[in-house]
Amino acid sequence: LRGVVALDGPSGTGKTTVARKLAAKLGAGYLDTGAMYRVVTLAVLDAGVDPLDADAVAALARAVRCEVATDPATPGARLDGTDVGETIRTPRVDAAVSAVSAVPEVRELLVQRQRTLIEEVAREAGGVVVDGRDIGTVVAPDAPLKVFLTASAEVRAARRGAQDTAAGRETDQAAVLASVERRDRLDSSRVSSPLRPAEDAVEFDTSDLSIEQVLVALTELAST
Ligand code: C5P
Repeated sequence: LRGVVALDGPSGTGKTTVARKLAAKLGAGYLDTGAMYRVVTLAVLDAGVDPLDADAVAALARAVRCEVATDPATPGARLDGTDVGETIRTPRVDAAVSAVSAVPEVRELLVQRQRTLIEEVAREAGGVVVDGRDIGTVVAPDAPLKVFLTASAEVRAARRGAQDTAAGRETDQAAVLASVERRDRLDSSRVSSPLRPAEDAVEFDTSDLSIEQVLVALTELAST
């Protein structure tokens, strides 16, 4: 797994922004595994399936075509060929994605696809930065560089709120904080691949760091 950088952590740590910038800087590809869980979640919601009905969710996950772009300059996601890059970031998907991603069959399916994509992209681009929750622990435990980003819940909610505002969505800061805390609680307590740092991951608390500072530190780590 030469050239693979596993970047894990909860939402609002700056993970996705850092991952894309790092990939661009290294001339590597980028894989947003959260986007894959979000596309499946959107399919579940659009089909009127209950996100807590594990069997129905698993069947749907197998039936739909979910694609994510791997060029850090042009992120994008498709569900059965339709562009869903914006829709997968809405509060409706935020609220249901932890339940969908807790279904073991969904994880098995997506982890398999992620491993295939990682190999393909690493071969083509010479490296790949993989953004997720279980990359260092489950998807690519052999990655030579594993990073786990953290930040206080308040900082993470403020960053998520700023992203929503930038995307033209209305924000209620208290609701964003509640949603971020709920999602992290669910992601950390699920039975199948819970959110946690790999034993050999480098941990960074980004609460008081700018994106640029985190990027400089990670570029240095990736180049050694
Ligand atoms: O990274 P992002 O916030 O887009 O991820 C959305 C959700 O997808 C997470 O809250 C988590 O439930 C799930 N996820 C996961 N495993 C990953 C990436 C994301 O379970 N590797």
